[in-house]
Amino acid sequence: MKITYSIIAPIYNEIDNLPELYRRVKEVMDSHGEPWEFILVDDGSTDGSTEKIRELAEKDKTIRPVIFARNFGHQVAITAGWDFARGDAVVIIDADLQDPPEVILELAKKWKEGYEVVYAVRGEREGESWFKLWTASMFYRLIYQITDVKIPVDTGDFRLMDRKVVNVLKQMKERHRFPRGMSAWVGFKQIGVTYKRAARLAGVTKYPFKKMVRLAVNAITGFSYFPLQVATYFGFVSAGISILAIPVVAVLRLAGSHFFEGQATTLISVLFLGGVQLISLGILGEYVGRLYDEAKGRPLYIVRDAPEE
Ligand code: UDP
Ligand code: MG
Repeated sequence: MKITYSIIAPIYNEIDNLPELYRRVKEVMDSHGEPWEFILVDDGSTDGSTEKIRELAEKDKTIRPVIFARNFGHQVAITAGWDFARGDAVVIIDADLQDPPEVILELAKKWKEGYEVVYAVRGEREGESWFKLWTASMFYRLIYQITDVKIPVDTGDFRLMDRKVVNVLKQMKERHRFPRGMSAWVGFKQIGVTYKRAARLAGVTKYPFKKMVRLAVNAITGFSYFPLQVATYFGFVSAGISILAIPVVAVLRLAGSHFFEGQATTLISVLFLGGVQLISLGILGEYVGRLYDEAKGRPLYIVRDAPEE
């Protein structure tokens, strides 16, 4: 059977959200009347979500479970969804119902109008701490400023993509992934649809601060050389200052001034430059580590159970 819509939901310990997610997505998609499939990617859940997904899949063949051998992370789970999706349009949605499934209908409408990437923009966000809101807002703006692709701000992974786009994305095998950047990078006809992001239905966020930082670093290193360039700028600025400072200090000394005397000045400049050098080395390390990961060429994810064709 030809599938029109593939809905992908990455699942990491979402047992309390699964029944409601299934119910609401099914309601929306059935109202649409076109053939669809629901790809539930279990990203190494340990709370029984895996069994729940299997149980749902037993009863309803629209569900196609992809069960990972361990936790590979949200971005990789989305990637597996792309790999297994068969639909003409592919939708990524969070499993915690923060992305209301009803919005899929609006995304689909734009797709029918001819847009190839329809991303959902978070107009309002409910039930999130000011810290999350603030860091998220900073994150989107920072990424927008320093990366080479214009990744739409306030936009998560909730989006619909045409088959053509997904086929291109499937060829992008980079290990440290930032799907929303990747889907902006490919081009095609893109448009945003604003929606109100709801509060999480049950459970807690699977994105602690540390993971958010990793995601930000992936986004930045994946889409720009900016941090490397910053190191270069810093080098030029420090070198410039020293070129100006050396004659000044020499002249002051010859004139008998004791202004730059003592260990403190030496210590400050040595520590400052040492710090700058170590940071630059760390930045270089981030890129080299990524190169190393790419060179190893390991599979992106390991599937314990793949859905039937
Ligand atoms: N998720 C995942 N693997 C992970 C972390 C999260 O598959 O390692 C899934 C999670 O189950 C949810 C989606 O990614 O469906 C978004 O995660 P979450 O709601 O925790 O992020 P937030 O909305 O708080 O940014
Ligand atoms: Mg969420």
